[in-house]
Amino acid sequence: PVVLGIESSCDETGVGIVRGTELLAHVVASSMEEHVRYGGIVPEVASRAHLEAFVPTLTEALADADLTMAEIDAIAVTSGPGLTGALLVGLAGAKALALAHDVPLYGVNHLAAHVAVDQLEHGRFDRRVVALLASGGHSEILLVDDIASDVTLLGQTIDDAAGEAFDKVARLLGLPYPGGPHIDRVAADGDPRSVPFPRGLTASRDQEKHRWNFSFSGLKSAVARHVQREQLAGREVAVADVAASFQDAVCDVLTAKAVEACRVHDVGTLVIGGGVAANSRLRWYAEQRCAEAGLELRVPRLGLCTDNGAMVAALGAEVVRRGLPPSAATLGADSGLPVTSVVA
Ligand code: ATP
Ligand code: MG
Ligand code: FE
Repeated sequence: PVVLGIESSCDETGVGIVRGTELLAHVVASSMEEHVRYGGIVPEVASRAHLEAFVPTLTEALADADLTMAEIDAIAVTSGPGLTGALLVGLAGAKALALAHDVPLYGVNHLAAHVAVDQLEHGRFDRRVVALLASGGHSEILLVDDIASDVTLLGQTIDDAAGEAFDKVARLLGLPYPGGPHIDRVAADGDPRSVPFPRGLTASRDQEKHRWNFSFSGLKSAVARHVQREQLAGREVAVADVAASFQDAVCDVLTAKAVEACRVHDVGTLVIGGGVAANSRLRWYAEQRCAEAGLELRVPRLGLCTDNGAMVAALGAEVVRRGLPPSAATLGADSGLPVTSVVA
């Protein structure tokens, strides 16, 4: 079936179209530039931008796929988690389209979609996989038996998400928002071993309770203290070295725990998703460690890691394939939808 996916949970208005695991169109409009001067997403601004971008993005995606709405078999839309006002714009648009064109509508989970998108690149998951989801608002390790219906949360961050830590540390280092790509760029000229930043929740005392959990707020504070110490001593902060060392600490812990989860659960494939999956150091660590452990590694290309509509369409296609029932007409936004609720 041909599935249209609509994403509007944060600042990206995304429309994707897939046929099974084949990507037919992938168009994203971002309101990021409007938020940069505030140093973070302003929900009202994001909602209005979605409203303006919805029809142009949809029109462009249909044109790219060389399809009309009459050729769309189902619509999938992000129903959570995310900003309520932003989600509501995508939901309203999706409902109107579904009603007007008499196609089934599926409200799906944004986080599961970050994982499902890899299928557009590397084919269907044909066995149980472990997924590392590292994004702006979440950092989780998942056991995925069926991406459309059976996702288990093994562990998650107990404070900041990985992407959030990148964004906060970038601000400390005087780099623009969103910080992830800037830290990645600046770190290329730095020494990742120059500052020994802490690896949260990796001590032996954390084995029991926090084995699969993450913590990045202590790391963020350690970077702040380091910067302060340098400034008090009248030294110039070595931004590239600090960025590289911080990035190394985040990516070391994320990949070590994800690979360990594969080993403990006897799973042969690791899938990485979410905006932070675009990080070069994370990809490097994952490649090294999966090769060492004899694991298959699946990471989507950069443009599919950050928010987009193709990921929603990819998950929608799996949901349709399972024959799961469409969402009710009363489908609403759920800003805190847990990853284990794949379909609303
Ligand atoms: P969530 O998916 O949890 O709801 P979100 O949708 O806002 O949050 P994503 O779009 O998945 O998050 O990812 C955005 C985050 O990814 C930002 O925090 C950004 O800094 C980070 N990011 C993007 N590119 C990189 C990179 N190359 N290195 C590190 N972080 C990155
Ligand atoms: Mg975004
Ligand atoms: Fe996201």
